[in-house]
Formats: sequence, structure tokens, C-alpha cells
Amino acid sequence: MSLFNLDTQNNDLDSKITAGLERLSQVFKVLLWEKAKEHQLSPIQIQLLIFIANHSSDLSTISYMAQEFGLTKPTISDAIKTLEQKKLVTKRNDKQDTRSYRVVLTQKGKNLVADCSKYPDTLSEIVAGIDADDKQILWKVIVMFIEQMSNAGIIAVQRMCYNCNHYSQQNGKPFCMLLNKQLYANDIRLDCPEFESLS
Ligand code: SF4
Repeated sequence: MSLFNLDTQNNDLDSKITAGLERLSQVFKVLLWEKAKEHQLSPIQIQLLIFIANHSSDLSTISYMAQEFGLTKPTISDAIKTLEQKKLVTKRNDKQDTRSYRVVLTQKGKNLVADCSKYPDTLSEIVAGIDADDKQILWKVIVMFIEQMSNAGIIAVQRMCYNCNHYSQQNGKPFCMLLNKQLYANDIRLDCPEFESLS
């Protein structure tokens, strides 16, 4: 029986948790849509601007961003074209491969990102108010979810510790060989600038 069937959902904790996660995913969509409307952009255009602003230019290629957002290269390319027309981004040719280019923000793009990045602020305020012990539990569960979804291929690109070449176990405990430190639950990164792919 589907978890959306209310008899199933209301009598089964697993179904309630899954339905609750679905509800939470809607919250992000709604908040992102509101911000996108405010700036007359689409949600993916906002997400691309935020991604470009917060990652190395090596990752700001059409191919990588298509993988990151689980979309096709033409879709990303079209979104970038619109952002370019709006003078929010510009293309920088790759010195090694002249057929390819990286996308960088213009000053106008940087100014816009400063405001767009605030779209999850309502949720951040709620998280800030959660009890410290509950927060630790929540974080562990979130990391476990993301790790399992990444392993199942549902999330395409993850620059997190468990997929990183620098990740190891020392005395049975998670350890980062690059930072040379034990990784406690709070140290596990979802999106690490020093991440190095296993493959
Ligand atoms: S380099 Fe970053 S992603 Fe890799 S194990 Fe260390 S902290 Fe984690």
C-alpha cells in the first residue's frame, strides 16, 4: 500500500517519516520558487548562481553542473545562456581545452547571489533553535541518508567524506588523511573543497 494512503501512513512510523521528508522537500521548493520569482529567474538559474559562487571554477563547467543537478547538458547550457543575457555570468575559456569553458559570476551576479543565498534562512532559524543533542542526532541521520542515496546512485555527485580519497579509518574511527585528523560526526563534510574523488 502506498505511503500516501492515509490509513497506511497514520499507522506506520516508516511511512510517516518518508511522508515527512517529502513535505520538507516541498518547503525547499517553495522557498526557492519565491526567491526565483522575486528576481525573475527560474529555480535552476538561482541554484546555478549559488553553486558557481561557492565552488572552484574547475567545477563550473556545463558537464559538471549537469551531473551535479541531475539535468542534461542542453538544459544547463540554456539556463547559463539566459544568465549570460542578463549579465549575471560570463564564460571563461579553458586554457587546456579551447572547446570548453568555465562559467564565472559578474559583479552583478555576485550582488544577486548575496540575496538569493538567503532563500533557506527560515529553515536555518528553525535549525538554530533545535536542542544541541537533538541536532547531533539529526545530523547523523542526515549524513546516513545522503550516504545511502549516494551509494544507490540517487544523488549523482557528492563531495562528501565517505566518497573521498583522503578518507580512511584509524583505530576503527573515521579519519581524514589530508587534514590529518579524526573526523567526529560534526566534522563530516557534505561538500568539501579539498574533496578528491575515489575514481
Ligand atoms: S578532504 Fe574533505 S571530504 Fe576528504 S576526507 Fe578530508 S574532510 Fe572529508
